[in-house]
Amino acid sequence: MPEIINGNEIARVIREEIRKETVVMREITGVTPGLAVVLVGDDPASRIYVRRKGRACAEAGFLSREIRLPAAAAEGELLDIIVQLNGDPAVHGILVQLPLPRQIRTQMIIEAIAPAKDVDGFHPVNVGRLMAGNPGPVSCTPRGVMELLDRTGVDIAGREAVIVGRSNIVGKPLALLLLARHATVTICHTRTQRLPDVTRRADILVAAAGSPEMIRGDMIKEGAVVIDVGINRRDDGRLVGDVAFAEAERRAAYITPVPGGVGPMTIAMLLRNTLEAARRITAPV
Ligand code: NDP
Repeated sequence: MPEIINGNEIARVIREEIRKETVVMREITGVTPGLAVVLVGDDPASRIYVRRKGRACAEAGFLSREIRLPAAAAEGELLDIIVQLNGDPAVHGILVQLPLPRQIRTQMIIEAIAPAKDVDGFHPVNVGRLMAGNPGPVSCTPRGVMELLDRTGVDIAGREAVIVGRSNIVGKPLALLLLARHATVTICHTRTQRLPDVTRRADILVAAAGSPEMIRGDMIKEGAVVIDVGINRRDDGRLVGDVAFAEAERRAAYITPVPGGVGPMTIAMLLRNTLEAARRITAPV
């Protein structure tokens, strides 16, 4: 049987580390990290995410601010708020909860956030830094995957890593992070031919496709590390990942469950990005 990677426990440890680092930072510099979360509209899932982020900030000892706009808000209103937050010295991280309503251009909003406060790591400047291997905020979910691997003691250098999914928020940044750690990386997508042949090569297999249980047992190499980023709700209400867990369990050496694997790491990494942003912004020059 494989080792089940306990994302809840790893995220709890990281959040506790961040809480302690925050106390020290406040004692030494007088700075308390501040995160502003902007929610446009009242999508129930987004509201739950925003509430969770606020609670996690409070537990870490951060200041958190929630700004809500109605679903019909104009792009200009949201831009004004971002400009204000960019200039607010008490705010070190700005997160605009996605998806945004149709009348608002998402990319234009992402690009309006000051790169130093872009704790989601979506700004082109930060994407460029990641590409070049320079420090900066990194998209939370891929960063969370790297932490899971590291804290589980998985060797990355020289290993064959296969990622199923090439989105800008998960697949692509994760590929760059794995590459920076000397993995040999393959990214798969819907046009990939003979997908099982490719996934079977993986020492580290990451499923980030958003397709329920598409990774079957026979697509996994014996002894692989399997990381399941997918979160899908079945018709019966059950939450499943992109990996058929019961089948994968028989082949993998390490595997993340859904829920309780990658999911909890995303908020932990948002806190980490905010703390680091506060450090960078307030560091004496
Ligand atoms: P996107 O829909 O943006 O991207 C999905 C990617 O997977 C695309 O590149 C797509 O290929 C590829 N793909 C889809 N189906 C297949 C298939 N059958 N075979 C091969 N490739 C396939 O999704 P996201 O990256 O935003 O999210 C992926 C999953 O991760 C979702 O379930 C999402 O809910 C979850 N997620 C979880 C988070 C967490 O905190 N745990 C955070 C973010 C996302 P193509 O480009 O060709 O269309």
